[in-house]
Amino acid sequence: MKIKRQNDYGRRKFIKTGISGAIVAAAGVSGITNILSGCYPSKKTNITTIKTGFEQQPLPYKYDALENVIDALTMEIHYSKHAASYSKNLKEAALAENVNMNESLEVMLSGISRYSTKLRNNAGGHFNHEMFWQCLRPKIADNKPGTGLLKIIEEQFVSFAQFKSQFADAAKSRFGSGWAWLYKNKEGKLKIGSTANQDNPLMDLSSVEHKGFPILCIDVWEHAYYLKYQNKRADYIENWWNIVNWDYVQKRYDA
Ligand code: MN
Repeated sequence: MKIKRQNDYGRRKFIKTGISGAIVAAAGVSGITNILSGCYPSKKTNITTIKTGFEQQPLPYKYDALENVIDALTMEIHYSKHAASYSKNLKEAALAENVNMNESLEVMLSGISRYSTKLRNNAGGHFNHEMFWQCLRPKIADNKPGTGLLKIIEEQFVSFAQFKSQFADAAKSRFGSGWAWLYKNKEGKLKIGSTANQDNPLMDLSSVEHKGFPILCIDVWEHAYYLKYQNKRADYIENWWNIVNWDYVQKRYDA
């Protein structure tokens, strides 16, 4: 009788820890926070719906899916060589500098000033590219945001055409290598800006002038367009508007 009770206890204990162990294994430690916070829907839980991990994710389309705007060879080299090496070097540096890789990259970027230049460059490189791939989709005619986001853009930039022109200017005038961004500042206003190298608006660096939550980005490093456009960055930017995934931009805006 006594033995049976002990066995029952052991079995219950095993089931309990076994189940929680499986949840942890399936969701990861940061995922657990989402599952738990998901029990109490609030505005705050929305913020966690867009998170970036340390691993390179599969490209959401084929290398040739953006042809006529970005050629397949550029996409292949960009994704499988340039971007892949940012993720590889990021993980290497994160391990060396004891970064908690269970936290999202967004959290680490907001405190990037505490880490090395190697970590800054590769964390930025990885984050920026993961976001960039999602911001694109195959070309569609008359590509523009859905009514919700379009209205907000028109309110803040007078017209969609003026917004495009300001954003394109930020991308064209970035000297050397870098990125242009549409981001939400801490007052919730949409702003346009540009950063050098692999920096981004999430970083807590005094050299980063534009700070906030990025919702759209364009890579203006030459490796992003040189095979097809050579020195004509402006043509690349002009064509790029046709492949912006406005549904994804709206999703980031809502987050
Ligand atoms: Mn790039």
